[in-house]
Amino acid sequence: MEKMAEKNSRLSALLLKASERNLDSVLVSSPSALRALTGVDCGEAVLEVSRNSRGSSVSIYTDFRYVSTLHRTLPDIKVRNVRNISQIKPHGKMVGCEMSVPYGIVLKWQKNSPASEFVDFSAELQQLQAVKTEDEISRLRAAEELTCEIWEEARRKFRPGMTELEMARIIRILMLEKGEGEAFDTIVCVGANAAECHHVPDNTPWNGRDGVLVDMGVKLNGVASDLTRNILPKRLSRLYRTVYSTVLEANLKAIEAVRPGITCKALDKVARDIIKKAGFGNAFGHSLGHGVGYEVHESPFVSKRSSQVLEKGMVFTIEPGIYLEGNLGVRIEDLVLVTDTGCEVLSRSAK
Ligand code: ZN
Ligand code: ZN
Repeated sequence: MEKMAEKNSRLSALLLKASERNLDSVLVSSPSALRALTGVDCGEAVLEVSRNSRGSSVSIYTDFRYVSTLHRTLPDIKVRNVRNISQIKPHGKMVGCEMSVPYGIVLKWQKNSPASEFVDFSAELQQLQAVKTEDEISRLRAAEELTCEIWEEARRKFRPGMTELEMARIIRILMLEKGEGEAFDTIVCVGANAAECHHVPDNTPWNGRDGVLVDMGVKLNGVASDLTRNILPKRLSRLYRTVYSTVLEANLKAIEAVRPGITCKALDKVARDIIKKAGFGNAFGHSLGHGVGYEVHESPFVSKRSSQVLEKGMVFTIEPGIYLEGNLGVRIEDLVLVTDTGCEVLSRSAK
């Protein structure tokens, strides 16, 4: 098992973080962390990484449904068959686990190992996933490329009279045909509906003249992607023009500012200051962006509260927006990859 940690740099990083926190073992159960550590989709399973006098040991607990799949996909890891993950008897005194584990399961684990103390290890696990491997980067690049291609194809199919739901359905079908479906529920907003930043598509029809905001991402090779683009209204009001150019400037300036070493809050500030200066400070109520990987929302969270430092290999969105209730909304979202000196924009669609 020592060999496995050597081969797998994320696993050895996990062991290092576990020893820094004096943990005897770590239980990993979220699908994205399992995928990041093992490379495969484990189904419902719990990976146990234990530190002991011999070094470390790794095993995976699952139930009958996934046992044979895990034997095939993870031949190096000992697979332990349990009726239910609540039956696991965690090893050691200090045990790290994720906040996403249901409370009822943690209570059972505590009962099975009364001497163990359970502590939150979520932040460490999220950090391990934030810097992507070469293989993950190429998959994310391909997923975002496909999202842009689907966006171009979908917008050509949009016709006046279609409802938001019908337009969302066009995108959903293209994503199923060309990828593995949606990474999240596609957002389509006609006209003033774009002022609701996570509007749920409804029966609002598009008259062919109003603006349309679309936020979408395909799932491909297990990874997510994320893109927001706008169809401009036929007749641009002065307000829409100002809002759009402000959001675009915030998006471009933030992209220019991305580099290894900058903190999330400093980057958020670049965009936020531009929007504030234009007089729309209260109309940009969300963070500048979020990491994208096996999940559509993951570390790093590019918010005004985060001191996390951006590193080469991180992939996240830059998505400033301005939302004027009952009137209009604009968001422009790109996916970027941090490089040695700046970033590569993975979203090639025109904006
Ligand atoms: Zn999005
Ligand atoms: Zn996003």
